[in-house]
Amino acid sequence: MSEYAIGVDLGGTNLRASAIDSSGKMLERFAESSRFAGGREGLLTEMVAAIAGLREKLGAGSLAGIGVSVPGFILLKEGVIRNSNNLPFIENFPIRDEIERRLGSRVILENDANAAALGEKWMGAGQEVDDLVLLTLGTGVGGGIIANGRIIRGYLGMAGELGHVVVVPKGNPCGCGSQGCVEKHASATAATAMARLMQLGENLSSKEVFDLANRDDDVGMKARAIWTATGESIGAVLATLVNTFNFSLYLLGGGVLAAWDRFAPAMIRTVEERSATYRLSKETTRIEQAKLGGDAGLYGAAYLPMLEK
Ligand SMILES: [Zn+2]
Repeated sequence: MSEYAIGVDLGGTNLRASAIDSSGKMLERFAESSRFAGGREGLLTEMVAAIAGLREKLGAGSLAGIGVSVPGFILLKEGVIRNSNNLPFIENFPIRDEIERRLGSRVILENDANAAALGEKWMGAGQEVDDLVLLTLGTGVGGGIIANGRIIRGYLGMAGELGHVVVVPKGNPCGCGSQGCVEKHASATAATAMARLMQLGENLSSKEVFDLANRDDDVGMKARAIWTATGESIGAVLATLVNTFNFSLYLLGGGVLAAWDRFAPAMIRTVEERSATYRLSKETTRIEQAKLGGDAGLYGAAYLPMLEK
């Protein structure tokens, strides 16, 4: 059979793994929803069992390698997660070496948004280009930058933290220690918070705030204002990215895409206002929705060992 790789996507609350062949065909998948009640040991046991199960099923002989996508700031060379808000028990622990030891197989660790960007480049919306930026708009905002077909990692592995680009200098405080980071002004969490402050409801999802925006009354007007503000914040980041990179493709992914029709007009308008580079290259600079949804990280993680052979 053809060569395949195993991609693992460790989210804040669940673990997914899949075997994908070198042509990008998903052969097998494993999904475990879990709150990781077993802490670090429970998580490691579960992850190693998932990988070993796929390897056994498809054969160790044609396994190209294993890539693991994790949330948080990572030290690439050391294979360590320095900071992870959702999974504090795996911080500052040699997670890559421990998985390698248990499996007897080499493992490549990568940040989740970086892996998602690589996945979109390999099998998603970025197949035709060598350079792209992906912004994932979920509970937070993640970012990944691909140049010449490879992830820009920085010297430690922490590059692409686009969720912490400042869009409001004295804006909302962020867990990173700064203020006004885009993830505090344009994420699912930010939309939920704005809806609560405007007394539209408690704990509304992006889709629910989107639906409210369709109403022809005062509530609808307030909900539309939330999406306009969201679009303006994302647009400010995109303008900075267009000015910085002059890439031809910028992708947006994540749950907030459910409200695309409501925030995209303000987003594009803001990019036009704030980036001369964009105005001069509008015909060929694309700002589009990512294609792989929640599977982007799995594809990217599996592609890592194929790319780095
Ligand atoms: Zn921040």
